[in-house]
Amino acid sequence: MIIVFKPEATEKQIQHVLEKVKTSGFPVDINRGAERTIIGIKGKIDQVARLRIQPFEAFPGVEKVVSISAPFKLVSRQYKPQDTVIDIEGIKIGGKKVVVMAGPCSVESREIMLEVAKKVKLAGARILRGGAFKPRTSPYSFQGLGEEGLQYLHEAKEKTGLPIVTELMDPRQIALVEKYADILQIGARNMQNFDLLKEVGRSKKPVLLKRGMGSTVEELLMSAEYIVSEGNPHVILCERGIRTFESATRFTLDINAIPVIKQLSHLPVVADPSHATGQRSLVASVAKAALAAGADGLIIEVHTNPEIAKSDGPQSLLPSMFSDLMEELKKVGHAIGREI
Ligand code: PEP
Ligand code: MN
Repeated sequence: MIIVFKPEATEKQIQHVLEKVKTSGFPVDINRGAERTIIGIKGKIDQVARLRIQPFEAFPGVEKVVSISAPFKLVSRQYKPQDTVIDIEGIKIGGKKVVVMAGPCSVESREIMLEVAKKVKLAGARILRGGAFKPRTSPYSFQGLGEEGLQYLHEAKEKTGLPIVTELMDPRQIALVEKYADILQIGARNMQNFDLLKEVGRSKKPVLLKRGMGSTVEELLMSAEYIVSEGNPHVILCERGIRTFESATRFTLDINAIPVIKQLSHLPVVADPSHATGQRSLVASVAKAALAAGADGLIIEVHTNPEIAKSDGPQSLLPSMFSDLMEELKKVGHAIGREI
């Protein structure tokens, strides 16, 4: 349930309502937008509680009391009409400027990591990606370098100034990953690992939450609600392709999901054309389509020598291809009023 104040509501009126709501015993959250203030009352609101809260409509300064029926509340647009903008060392995700994140699928060696970081920075990427803990379908595939990989990412950040996004798969990895990462990535396979979601919800670091390959948009938003309801409002959603009957590509990027999420939620949305297509030759087209559909950012795999990549070589762009794509993205951005 949310209480929406009139734009002209005074601080005294807001405080008065806030005090009364607090006596109801429900956890409350206050959201002061540029236009108006909204108080969110968290938790299940049963009939009895509803009776106690409903009279707030009569309080001075209150415009309306709305019961949010969607199973996600804090991440909903109803609760917070204005876009959330997440600031990562001055890089804003969710604003007018689109943020491109790029780097190898896995951190494989110091040399490759530093080389790719240098190249993607030169081409205009603003965040560096790379996995040190890899969720692999086969237990015999490369599992990532662990802390050694995080150290290479850190060195690449020191050399290029690019903040880091990297995946963690287990609540026990949080303390370590937090030391190195600027954004904690929750991979598609862990979108409904609720204990992990709760744990990153207690972190101060922004979270990149990838949509599960078999999950609906509503389920993605409920997973985001897990994180936000634990106290971490800095969540970036990622459409990375879902499983459909189509077998021509690795997954199917759900382009609809981008504007759907923007309607339903205030959180920023990025798209991952690399995992969605699985093929280097398709990445640029799908990246441009995602940008045109309203994505606030893109996450793209780049490798200096994809033939020897330990994971996802076939979908990794060569640095020159990435650089060309950045130029094309600028044109699409210009056409839709966004900067790259
Ligand atoms: C990744 O980004 O490296 C990754 C494993 O992606 P996803 O979780 O979307 O498969
Ligand atoms: Mn990958």
